[in-house]
Amino acid sequence: MKDASPQTIYLADYTPPAFLVEKVHLTFRLSPEKTRVLSKIEFRPNPASSSRTFFLHGENLRLIGAKIDGAAITPQVTAEGLTADVPDAPFTFEAEVEIDPAGNTALEGLYMSNGMYCTQCEAEGFRKITYYPDRPDVMSVFTVRIEGDMPVMLSNGNPVAEGDGWAEWHDPWPKPAYLFALVAGDLVNHADRFTTRSGRKVDLNIWVRPGDEGKCAFGMEALKKSMTWDEEVYGREYDLDLFNIVAVDDFNMGAMENKGLNIFNSSCVLASPETSTDANFERIEAIIAHEYFHNWTGNRITCRDWFQLCLKEGLTVYRDSEFTADMRSAPVKRIGDVIALRARQFREDNGPLAHPVRPESFVEINNFYTATVYEKGAELIGMLKRLVGDDAYGRALDLYFERHDGQACTIEDWLQVFEDATGRDLAQFKRWYTQAGTPRLRVSEDYEGGTYTLHFEQHTPPTPGQEVKDPRVIPIAVGLLGPNGDEIKETQLLEMTEARQSFTFDGLAAKPVPSILRDFSAPVILDRETSNEERAFLLAHDTDPFNKWEAGRALARNGLLAMIREGAAPDAAYLDAVHTMARDETLDPAFRALAHGLPSEDDLAQSLHDAGHTPDPQAIWEALETLRDARAVTMEATARALYDRHQVTAPYRPDPEQTGARALANAALAILTRRDGGAQAQAQYDAADNMTQQLAGLSCLLQAGKGAAAVQAFYEQWQHDRLVIDKWFSLQILQAAPQDTADTTARLTEHRDFTIRNPNRFRATLGALAMSPAGFHHASGKGYKTLADWLIALDPLNPQTTARMCSAFETWRRYDADRRALIAEQLDRILASPNLSRDTTEMVSRIRG
Ligand code: ZN
Repeated sequence: MKDASPQTIYLADYTPPAFLVEKVHLTFRLSPEKTRVLSKIEFRPNPASSSRTFFLHGENLRLIGAKIDGAAITPQVTAEGLTADVPDAPFTFEAEVEIDPAGNTALEGLYMSNGMYCTQCEAEGFRKITYYPDRPDVMSVFTVRIEGDMPVMLSNGNPVAEGDGWAEWHDPWPKPAYLFALVAGDLVNHADRFTTRSGRKVDLNIWVRPGDEGKCAFGMEALKKSMTWDEEVYGREYDLDLFNIVAVDDFNMGAMENKGLNIFNSSCVLASPETSTDANFERIEAIIAHEYFHNWTGNRITCRDWFQLCLKEGLTVYRDSEFTADMRSAPVKRIGDVIALRARQFREDNGPLAHPVRPESFVEINNFYTATVYEKGAELIGMLKRLVGDDAYGRALDLYFERHDGQACTIEDWLQVFEDATGRDLAQFKRWYTQAGTPRLRVSEDYEGGTYTLHFEQHTPPTPGQEVKDPRVIPIAVGLLGPNGDEIKETQLLEMTEARQSFTFDGLAAKPVPSILRDFSAPVILDRETSNEERAFLLAHDTDPFNKWEAGRALARNGLLAMIREGAAPDAAYLDAVHTMARDETLDPAFRALAHGLPSEDDLAQSLHDAGHTPDPQAIWEALETLRDARAVTMEATARALYDRHQVTAPYRPDPEQTGARALANAALAILTRRDGGAQAQAQYDAADNMTQQLAGLSCLLQAGKGAAAVQAFYEQWQHDRLVIDKWFSLQILQAAPQDTADTTARLTEHRDFTIRNPNRFRATLGALAMSPAGFHHASGKGYKTLADWLIALDPLNPQTTARMCSAFETWRRYDADRRALIAEQLDRILASPNLSRDTTEMVSRIRG
C-alpha cells in the first residue's frame, strides 16, 4: 500500500542513525510464494546520535515474530516499518518475516525472474526483505544462510560452507543494506581467474541460464580488462577471492554493483556476434567496467544518504568513460557522450524535471537516478580534473581512498579532499552541485592591433525552485587557428569565474578563428553568432576532434533550422562540407560515421524552442527527410565507394576498427537505400553473419518500405532469443512513418511475445514510441494516449519503470496549444488513476507543474 499524500524528504533534515549495526545474520528459507527470512542483528547505540528512537524500515512484510536479546517482543508495526523499546546498550534484535517473491512484480527486494530468485536492493529495496535500518550510512558485516532446492545459491562475499539444500556466505567488508544480494536458481557459469598485482587469486564467474553459456566470453574479457585498468590507473585492487556476475532477464535498470555479486540485466552482459550489435558490445564493456569500478567508488566508499548519489554515480560514470576512452577511441567516446548528454541531460535541465546534481529534496529516490546525477555528475568530475590538472587529480583521489575507505560520505568530503590535495578553494565550484540548469555561454570577439579578445557572458535560466543563479567557474578550453588553417595557439584553459569576463591573446599577425570549448570542456550551451564559412573552416581544419565534429553538427543544424523555419532548400555549403569530409580517408571511419549523423528531431525541437519558435514535430521530421534525400543525390557515388571500401571481410570482432568500418559502411548503406530502393540493404540482410549487419539491413529495408518479408524472416529466425526479439519490436516502431508509429506500437502490444511484465520488452515497445518524436507527437494525440494507457496499466505492477518512462512527456511545454492540451489530458488521466504509486505521482506532478 502506498501513502495517500507522499512525504517530501529534505537533505537539510539529515540526522545520523540512532543505532549502528555491528553484524547481521540472515537465513532465507526459499519458497516462491512464502519465503521466510530470519534475521539476527547486533545493534549498538550510536555515540554520534542523541536519539534513542529505535526504528527499522520494513514494507510488505508479514511479521511472524520478533525478539530482543532472546525475549519475544511485540513491536509497533506500520506500513513503513517497526518501532520497539530497546535497551540503552548493545542488544540483539531478531525477527522472522514472510515475503512473496513470486508476487513481486515491482522487481525491488527479493523477486523471481524465470524461475530464479534474485534481489534488487538499491535504493530502498532491502526493507522489502526484512526489517532493517535501510539507509546507506548504516554499514555492517553480513553472514547469509540460504536454504532451498536450487542448484546454485549465491550471496555477497565468500562461500563459507554448503550442503544438500543449503549454502552459507560471509562478506567480510562492512556494507550498507542496498549492496546486499542473493541469487538462487538453475544457473551455469562461465569461469575464469584473475591475479591481482599483489598476488591475490580471484575466481571470476558469469552465471547465466543454461543455453546462454556461449554469450559470456566477451563480458569476461571486459571484466578482466576493467580489473587491470583500475589497478593501473587508480591503483585499486579487488578485495575478495571471488567475483560473481549474474544475468537476469527481468530487471528495471542496467546493472547493480552488489558487493562481490553484481546482478545484470541480461541485455547488459550477454553478447555474441550473431545476436548483439557493435553498439551492444561497447555498452556491455562499459557497464561491466562501471559496476566493477563501483567496488571502490560506491562500495568501499559509499554515500551517507541518497542526496549524495552523484558521489558514487558521477565518479563511476566518469571512471567508466575514461576506461572506454583508453580501450577504444577517446574522441569517438567523447563525441558519443556529448550527444547523449545533450539528448538526455540538457533536455532534463531545460524542463520541469530539472534538479541539481546533488538534489536537496525528493519524494521517491528511485526518481533521481537521472541523467543529471549520472552524466552531468560525471561532467563535474571531468571539469574538476581539468581545473586542477592530471597530477593533482591523482593525488586527490589517492587521498580520497586513504581518508574515506570504509565510510559513508558526502560531496563536502569529496571536495575537501581536492581542497586539501591542491590548496584550491572550491566554494564556487560547489555551485555546480547545488544549482540546476545548463549555463548558456554567450561569446563575442574583437581583434585590434594584433590583439584578439574573447568576451564571455554566462547565464543560467531559472529552474523549478531556483529562480536566480550565481556565476559558476567554467573551464573553457580554447585554441586559435590562423587564416590558412594552421593552429597558431595551442589549446589553453581559460578559467571563467565572473558573470562576464574577457580573455586576450597578443601578438597575432591576423584575426584568428577560435576553436572554443574544445573537447567539450564544460557542460554548457555555447551561443556564438558566426558564419557558415567559419564552421566549414573549422570542420576542415580544427585539430580538436570534438570541435571538428561540432562544427559539422552546427552547420547541419543551422541548415535544418532554416529549412524548418523559412522553407529554405538544403544548405549547399553543408552538403559540400560533409561530402568532402566523408571522402577524407585520413579520418577515422568511426569519426566520419559520427560526423555523418544529423541532429536528432528532439535536438532540433529544443533549438527551435530556444530561439522562441514553437516546434512542429512533423515539419522537423520532413526537413530531416528532405535533407537526407538531398544528401543521397549529391553523395550517391561516394556512398557506393565508401560502402565497398569499408566492408569488413575478416571474421567478426567487436573492436574499434571493425566497429568504425561497419558504422561508416552502414551510414553509406542508408544513403544508397534512398537511391536503390533497398536492393543493397536486402543483399546485406541476406548475407549477414552478424547482428550489426543484419539489423542495419533490416533497418534500411523498413525505411525504404520494403521490410515486410525481412521482418517476418527475422522473427522466425530469432523468436527463441528474447534480447533479439526486443530489437525486432523496437525497430518496427522506430522505422514507422509518423502517422503509423502509434498504430504500429498498439499492434505490437497485441503480439503474443509482448509482455507488460518484462521491463526490457516494455521499453523496447513503448520506449520506442516515446523515442519517435514525430510519431509520438502526432497531431491526432494517439501517440500520447497509447503511451498513457500502458503507463497506467504498468504502474500497479512496476512503479519504478512506469515513473521513469513518464519523462517522455517532460518536454510538453515546448509544443503548440493543441498538443499541450492533448498531453495535459493524458497527464491528468494518469494522475487520476486509483492508487497511483508514489513514484509515478511524483513524476507526473512535477511534469504537469
Ligand atoms: Zn552506477
